[in-house]
Amino acid sequence: MKEIKIGIVGYGGMGGYHESDLIKNNPNVSVKGVFDIDNSKVELAKTKNLVGYNSYEELLNDNEIEAVLVATPNDSHKEISIKALNNKKHVICEKPVTINSDDLLEIVEVAKKNDRVFMVHQNRRWDSDYLIIRDLYKNKQIGDLFQIESRVHGANGIPGDWRHIKKHGGGMLLDWGVHILDQILFMVDSPIKNIYSDLSYVLGDEVDDGFVTYITFENGVRAVLEVGTSNFIKLPRWYVKGLNGSGAIYDWDLSGELIVQNKLDEKIELKPIKAGEGFTKTMAPPSEESTTKLKLPNPSCEYEPFYTNFARVVREGVDPIVKNEEVYKLMKVIEDIFKSAKN
Ligand code: NAD
Repeated sequence: MKEIKIGIVGYGGMGGYHESDLIKNNPNVSVKGVFDIDNSKVELAKTKNLVGYNSYEELLNDNEIEAVLVATPNDSHKEISIKALNNKKHVICEKPVTINSDDLLEIVEVAKKNDRVFMVHQNRRWDSDYLIIRDLYKNKQIGDLFQIESRVHGANGIPGDWRHIKKHGGGMLLDWGVHILDQILFMVDSPIKNIYSDLSYVLGDEVDDGFVTYITFENGVRAVLEVGTSNFIKLPRWYVKGLNGSGAIYDWDLSGELIVQNKLDEKIELKPIKAGEGFTKTMAPPSEESTTKLKLPNPSCEYEPFYTNFARVVREGVDPIVKNEEVYKLMKVIEDIFKSAKN
């Protein structure tokens, strides 16, 4: 497969990561050059033997560049993507694709008109912690999951500059929220029945610094999603309840466990415990014979790396792993979450 040469627009944290990690490690793609409105970033690119373009137009006029990676603040994705597509470039766009769902429809129309690929980098579909939970959901190792709790907790507030500003599409729902919602929607194959949400503003910014959302799906599964930036003690990254057991993944290091109920011939009488100033049978731990503690299974991943898939979508017309219809649905849910929190 002929390698696809990419031009990066926005060579900050994520643009740099695409170049030095994701693209460099993939034989199907390479970075030719960079444009950034901050000239120091263009100069940095030159020190890495990349072409530093003086303007976006100069990058677009480079005929060797077949695709553009958009890694700028959220509010600029639409304009930069449309310009690239109209210049016959394929586009990889960072998440959140845009700051509202209508803008995505406009981009998709322009992509169709120009017969170019437009793909959003929803990269956390490849996270090992997520894939373990997705496997549990599918293989029912602890029975049908009826509650899935997904949390990302930090204690460093909102990072950087533009993420604090509403007009740039700042705030945590549009930042981490987009990832953890995408993961849930890519796992639970059922329409949403209802959404209840609350955004937090404890740090005093004009944008949310976290949120809690409860989503109930028509198949009965309930998801609890939470992002927090003032959490000096973290809750587990994942906590799931199945009809025959529970599972937890504590952190990115994949520490965690599954507790599965044993099938016993006769019921074991529970021993009550003293709890605080009271006495309880209901909350006593299950007996040793009635449960088994298991290590977390290894994740299975049936999909190819993002850039391999992107290159095959461009060259061979295979299905994209991240479909624009899925991203549209995700953006609609984000809008519903904002609405629910407001009401
Ligand atoms: P950043 O502030 O580190 O970098 C943004 C860069 O874009 C800066 O260098 C800035 O000068 C440049 N820029 C701004 N406007 C521009 C324009 N009009 N034209 C050209 N360059 C411009 O931000 P970041 O953390 O790298 O985030 C960039 C994008 O990547 C955001 O959409 C963010 O949500 C996304 N992101 C995704 C992930 C992920 O895991 N998928 C992780 C981090 C960030």
